[in-house]
Amino acid sequence: MPEAPSLDDDTPDDDNDESTGSVHPLLQVQEIDTETEQLQHRRATLEVRGRLVAARSERVELQQQLDTLGLQRIEVLTRQKRLEDEAAIIQAKADVDDNRLYSGEITAIRDLQALQDEIAGLRSRQGVLEERAIEALMEAEELSEKAEALEAQRAASDERATVLEAELAAAEADIDGQLASLSATRTEIAAGAEAPTVAKYEQLRQTFGPSTAVPFDPSSGCGCPHQMPAVEVARIKRCADGEVLDCAECGRLVLR
Ligand SMILES: [Zn+2]
Repeated sequence: MPEAPSLDDDTPDDDNDESTGSVHPLLQVQEIDTETEQLQHRRATLEVRGRLVAARSERVELQQQLDTLGLQRIEVLTRQKRLEDEAAIIQAKADVDDNRLYSGEITAIRDLQALQDEIAGLRSRQGVLEERAIEALMEAEELSEKAEALEAQRAASDERATVLEAELAAAEADIDGQLASLSATRTEIAAGAEAPTVAKYEQLRQTFGPSTAVPFDPSSGCGCPHQMPAVEVARIKRCADGEVLDCAECGRLVLR
């Protein structure tokens, strides 16, 4: 073990307390960066955004249901039209037969009976088709009612989305304002520190995050998990106030 370097006795702990009295610009920058990150995180995870996404996806789902209903309704109405057309054709045919029946051109009882039977069959078929056409019309009516209810829901979710959009925009603008003011303050304060030191801090911050720069503490060194050796503590102690040093153990910036 090398002999412990002589510690300057005229460097009382008070010196350190004094230096924290006027906070090192790098620490202020670090604090601002941490606050900025917290704000950015809050902006990215705003609860209202989740509700807006939910309202929008609900709207998409409702629209899909409406589209499906619309297609079903067209299908039903097409069927209804076809049934009505078929019924009309059969009715026309029955009417022609009716005219023949009373025209006097058919005289044989057996032929008249056969024609009557045919007319009865046609009228019955016409009735069935007309009934089915009415059923289809009612089905279309039901689909329209369902669509109306869905449209009301869609309008409600539109309205909800509009309110949430405004809420989100206000929350974002509020945070953006805070971020802009932090950014301006940071520029101002960072100008008080040496540019290469700030650059080094910015690079190291990716590793050490909010505790990249640490005030020197003679009892625990930089506060990193590694105990700073006495010789290192002594070295840093000897440095002038305001100096920025590297912790030989962890690589953090130690502020004297
Ligand atoms: Zn350290």
